[in-house]
Amino acid sequence: MKFELRLTAPPLSARVSRETVASTLAKLVASGSATSKAELGRATGLSRTTVDAGVQTLIDIGALRVGGIKVVPGRGRPAETLELDPEFGIVLVADCGSTHASLAVFDLGQRMIDRVDIDIRLDAGPERVLPDLGGRFSDMLERLGRPDTPRSLVMGLPGPVDHWGGAVVRPPIMPGWDGYPVVDRMRELLGGPVMLENDVNLRALGEARAAPLTRGPLLYVKVGTGIGVGIVGADGTLIRGADGAAGDVGHVRASLAAKTPCTCGSIGCLEAVASVRAVGLALGFDGSDQIGLTRSVMALIEQQDPPALRIVKEAAEQIGEVVVSLIHFVNPERVLVGGSLSMASDHLLAIIRSIVYSRALPLATRNLTMARPVYGRRSGLAGGLVMGLESELEPEALARRPVRKALPPRPRYYAR
Ligand SMILES: [Zn+2]
Repeated sequence: MKFELRLTAPPLSARVSRETVASTLAKLVASGSATSKAELGRATGLSRTTVDAGVQTLIDIGALRVGGIKVVPGRGRPAETLELDPEFGIVLVADCGSTHASLAVFDLGQRMIDRVDIDIRLDAGPERVLPDLGGRFSDMLERLGRPDTPRSLVMGLPGPVDHWGGAVVRPPIMPGWDGYPVVDRMRELLGGPVMLENDVNLRALGEARAAPLTRGPLLYVKVGTGIGVGIVGADGTLIRGADGAAGDVGHVRASLAAKTPCTCGSIGCLEAVASVRAVGLALGFDGSDQIGLTRSVMALIEQQDPPALRIVKEAAEQIGEVVVSLIHFVNPERVLVGGSLSMASDHLLAIIRSIVYSRALPLATRNLTMARPVYGRRSGLAGGLVMGLESELEPEALARRPVRKALPPRPRYYAR
C-alpha cells in the first residue's frame, strides 16, 4: 500500500540556512509535489544554484537519489527525477486502541512495507504492553532484513496525551499509564526518535494531509470505545492546545438530564451516553469484557437489530449536538466521522449530518463537507507516517546525518 500524503514546510527566503533549504526540498520530493530540480525551483522560487546545492547536500547525506529520467515532450532536455532513498530511514507507526493495535513499517517513499494487526490489552499496563510492541517491531525489522536502518517511531494512544512530555496524563481507561515515560521506554527498546500522540489527532492529521494543503480546517470525530475529536488547521498542522487536550470532547456533558456515570468519575459525559461501550451497556452486555462487548454491539448493528439501531440513533443525536457546537467554534471545511461505531453503522453519519444541517447557521455549513475518512481504519497510520517523515526531514535531523563517503570520481572526457 502506497500513501500520497503532503508534508508541510515553512516558506523560504534568501536568509534561511542550508539545512532549511534542504529540508524543504526533501519534503517536496517526499510529498511527490516536485520531483525534478526544475520543479523544485518553480515550487520554491529559489534560484537554480540554490536548488542544485540543496539537492547535492541531500544526495551527499544519502537522503535523495536519482530515480529515473523524465522526458517532457517539447521541453528540451529530459530531466532527472528525484526520490527519497529508501535506505535513508524508516518510519514505524503503532496505532493503538484499547483492545487492538496496527503496527506498520514505512519506507521514506510512503510505502507500507510491513504491517501486523494484533490484539492488545492496554489495561494490562505499560510494562506489559510496551515490551510486546517493541519485540514485534524488532521481529518485523529483522524479517525485512533491516534491523540497523535508522528509524523513528510514532505511537498513537487512546487517551489524553502530553505530546511534548511524552506521556499519557490521567487516562480514564488505562490503569498504570498516568505519567509513565512512554517515549523514554520505547526509545530504550527500539532506539531512534519516538513521538507520542493522541490516536484521534493522528487520524485527523492523516486525513488532512490526504488532500491539498490549501483546504480549510478539518475535524475528525472518532466514535469508538471512547469519543474524541482531532483538529487540523488550514495550514495542515495539528491544533493540540496548550497541553494537548484540544478536542477532548468525550467528557463534556452531553445533556443536563443525563445521569449515566462515566469512567472518568463524572456523570452524563458524552462518552458515557454515546460511545460503543455506552451502546453495549444499554443493550445489557457485560461492561467488564470490553472486547466481547464491542464485538456483540457490532454483530447486532450488522444484523440491523431494531433495539440496537434505536440506541445508536439516540447516541448519534447526542454526538450531533456536540458537533454543531464544534462547527460554530472552528468553522471547518471538512468533518469526518470515523471510529468503530461509524464504520459499522451507516446511520451514525447520516443522523449527525442531519442534525448539523438543521441546527448550525447557514454560514457555517455553506462549504462544509461531512464524510467518512478516506483512509478508513488506516487514517491513524497515515497520520503517524506524516509525523515520522516530517521529523526525519527536519533541518536539525538532516544536519545530524553524516556525509556518505564520496564515490570515486568518474573519468572525464573532453570534447575535442
Ligand atoms: Zn467522563
